[in-house]
Amino acid sequence: MKCIGVLGGMSWESTALYYRLMNEETKAALGGLHSARIFMHSVDFHDIETLQNTGDWEGAGAILCEAAVGLKRAGADFLVIATNTMHKLADRIEKAANLPLLHIAEPTGAALVANGIKRVALLGTRFTMEEDFYLSYLERRFALDILVPEADDRAVIHRIIYEELCRGVVTETSRAAVTECIDRLQRAGAEAVILGCTEITMVVDPVTSPLPAYDTTALHAKAAVARALT
Ligand code: GLU
Repeated sequence: MKCIGVLGGMSWESTALYYRLMNEETKAALGGLHSARIFMHSVDFHDIETLQNTGDWEGAGAILCEAAVGLKRAGADFLVIATNTMHKLADRIEKAANLPLLHIAEPTGAALVANGIKRVALLGTRFTMEEDFYLSYLERRFALDILVPEADDRAVIHRIIYEELCRGVVTETSRAAVTECIDRLQRAGAEAVILGCTEITMVVDPVTSPLPAYDTTALHAKAAVARALT
């Protein structure tokens, strides 16, 4: 079994989900007492969020590149960045560590294409929804037509992620707000929704979501285990 190198802590709420999912997948595949081989570097999210907020992506990149180099030195065989947003720095981190990276959008895009979805909504931080790094990856690799929420909804979702979910706070008000946003995206023609923030399942239940939901955390964790087992 290969060893998965995880850059985590962004936030630890979702890294905890990754940890559980990677171990559950490994157990499902191998049975018995098998569990995933993982090296993890869990950062202090306070520092990362401060750098994101001030636009200091160089500074955030320096922290994550150093952490990734450490994972390589420890013996990780490939890298998983356990957040959608920090894939903004995916190329830089992959090069710095000289380790192959399993991009979070890869298993998500593949699952959408396999299910014949063409027009898909994307929920995430404002960085993920508004910048090019994530949208262009999905458009280029999978020819998906991606819808993002209107500006007001984007601001609400971004706030819920940083002020609530990353702090472990889950409210019915936010659950309703995100569900209403998915409703609006469905009316705008989306056939499915990408849960493009690793915490967002805390307020969106894929089973009751108005649109078929593609959970990037679960898809990424599952793909990591599949790679570890090949
Ligand atoms: N975990 C979130 C994501 O998937 C947001 C936190 C971050 O800024 O990394 O984008």
